[in-house]
Parts: sequence; structure tokens; C-alpha cells
Amino acid sequence: MNTQQEEQVDRHICANCGGTIKWNIAKQRLECASCRTPYEVRTTVERVEEHDFAGYVQREGERVSFPETSVIACGGCGAHIAVDDTCTATVCPMCGSTQLLERRQEAGVPPDGVIPFRIDQDTAQQNFSRWVKSRWFAPNRLKQAYQAGKLQGIYLPFWTFDACVTSHYWGQGGETYVVEDKDGNRDTRIRWFPVSGVVEGSYDDLQVCATLHEASQVVEKVLPYNTVDNTTPFSSSYLSGFLAERYAVPATEAVETARKQVYSDQEQQAERDILSRGYDRARVSSLDITYHTLTYKHVLLPAWTSAFAYNGKQYMYIINGESGKVGGQRPYSIPKIVAAVGAAVAVVVGAVLLLTGAAAPGAAAADQPDALICQMESPWQSWDNDMIELT
Ligand SMILES: [Zn+2]
Ligand SMILES: [Zn+2]
Repeated sequence: MNTQQEEQVDRHICANCGGTIKWNIAKQRLECASCRTPYEVRTTVERVEEHDFAGYVQREGERVSFPETSVIACGGCGAHIAVDDTCTATVCPMCGSTQLLERRQEAGVPPDGVIPFRIDQDTAQQNFSRWVKSRWFAPNRLKQAYQAGKLQGIYLPFWTFDACVTSHYWGQGGETYVVEDKDGNRDTRIRWFPVSGVVEGSYDDLQVCATLHEASQVVEKVLPYNTVDNTTPFSSSYLSGFLAERYAVPATEAVETARKQVYSDQEQQAERDILSRGYDRARVSSLDITYHTLTYKHVLLPAWTSAFAYNGKQYMYIINGESGKVGGQRPYSIPKIVAAVGAAVAVVVGAVLLLTGAAAPGAAAADQPDALICQMESPWQSWDNDMIELT
């Protein structure tokens, strides 16, 4: 290829036919969507690099993200979505708003790595249809709105953190013993002893979603991604034909979430350390963590999303583009739940009547009572999030 052709390929234009070069999910390679000519993914770095967190603030200020794309700001939720020439967004993939404003490029930390899409749109749609069918308590009109929603492929922004730590802890180890009074009543009591010690830990790729708060709650439901094994060096080639959200949460904020994960793991290790000394109870009262290393990287992870408004509320669902796991938000239909409770009560009453020998002609009307009862776990969290895992 000559220089001019290389420049075209960089802009995702096929040197052979002028078609668009896109990531072929089924073949896991880059190729022309028209003539199927395969292309090498061209990256500027050879491997996915971890950066020392101490240098983050300076790096945030001096670099530019998403080369050769423009960023659109959503007037609804404030998400910043990167689009290339081959892809135009008409609705915000994070909230369903049509108020999209074109923005210029912004400075930021460019992605270090990416997991290319592994789940194609058809598979994502099938997984999603199964998910909707299992939501029997959602209002029918919402189900229809869900089904009509078009899936958009989007790369979601994440920070991952690696850390090596040592923790000094102070706490108590407990020994249980039994006392018996003069009437022979036995009572179990605990005798506490002060303990302290040291535990260590090393962490690889603690994942923190850097999308907007509302959306990140849905994203949480489709985690984890296998960033340890499947992250490849970033290239804008992977973004061709997809959207990409610019991070809304800087690493300086995301690191606090990662530190909390480290804290709770170190606390559990300290408890195990106390128990290993022969105590049967453990309490950790304080923990002093020293970070020997703390590094981060910025990765883009694939997802299929659809977002829309229904009865004045926003709904969003996400299908993990690597694993196919589905997560979403939806309301419960109160009439359906009331009907289910009624049916379940009718079955119980019917069973009692049968057992006592009385006729119970109404009981047969209740349909699949076991299924109804077992899905009644928390019907009154009426606007709660929901998910199931699909394998
Ligand atoms: Zn071509
Ligand atoms: Zn939006």
C-alpha cells in the first residue's frame, strides 16, 4: 500500500473497493464490510500498558482521546459519545434522549486497551428476548417497548487498577465457652483477646466502570469482563461502526472505588488470619494499608445497549458484548403481582379444602402456582433493577 492508501485505511476506508472496514465479530478480524478483504489491526503500542497512578493527573491534562472521531454530548444525561465517520448516533445509547449536540474533541487519557466485540447483535437480541420473556411481572406495554428498542453497539469506558499492598491490623480473637447454672441451663459466651498482625495482597485488574452513575448501576449487573486475558492494545480500528463513550468518571475518583474493594478484601484476610491462630471468632477493629504499587489503565469494553423513556421514566438495558450476560431496569406491574398473590392464595386455600375433604372447584383456575410463588421475592421494590444470568 502507498501512503495515501494507508491514510484511507486509517480512516476505515477499504483500499480495494472504497467500502467501510469494520470488525467482523464472527470471524474476530478486521475486514471490508463490502468486499471482505481482511486488514491487520494497526496499533501504535505493542502491548497494553499499565501506568503508575502517581502520574495520572499530569497525563489527564496533556493527552487527547479518541483520535479521528468526534464527540457528541447528550443533552439528556450528559454522556459524551465518540462516533467515527462510519457511524451516526440518533439517540443517546445511555438514556434514549434525541438531544444530541455535536462537540469538538476533548483532552483526556486515551484508551490503553480494548476487548473487541465477541457477541454479535443477533445473539445479543436473542439473549435479550429470553430475558424479557422471563420478566412476567413487567407491564405488557413496557415489554413491547423493550422489544421495539434497537440495540446499539457501544464501547463502555472502564478503569482497571493493579495494586500490591501490606496491611497491619488490630482486632480481637474470640474463644467461645459454655457456662451452666445450678439448674443445668447452658449458655454460650465469648472471651475476647487483643490480636494484631500483618497480611498482604496483590490485585490484578480491579474493574471500575467510568460511565455516568445511572448507567453504571446497570453496567454493574453484566460484570465481570475478562480484562486480564482478553484485553488487546487499543486501536481506533475496533471502533469502526460502533459508538464509544468517553469516561465520565476520572481515574482520581474511580480509584476510591478500587481502594474500597482492596480494603474489604484485606479486612477479610485479616479475619482469616485471626481464625488461623486457633480462635473461633474474629473481629478487625482497624486496618492500616500501605500501597507498594498502584497502577491503572484505561480500557474500552463492548456492550449492546438500548435506552428509552416509558411513562416519564428512563429505562436502559445492557448485554455484555464479551459474555452475553443481560442486565436492565424495569418496573413491576402491580396488577400482575396482585393477580399472582391472589392465585397463590387460591391454591393454598384449595389445598387446605382438599385436605379437609371439602370440594374446591375454584383452585384449578390457578396456573403454575410454584412458578408464581417462587418469583415473589421482593415485589414491593417496585422500581428496582433486575437481572438474570444467561449462559
Ligand atoms: Zn472492500
Ligand atoms: Zn443521554
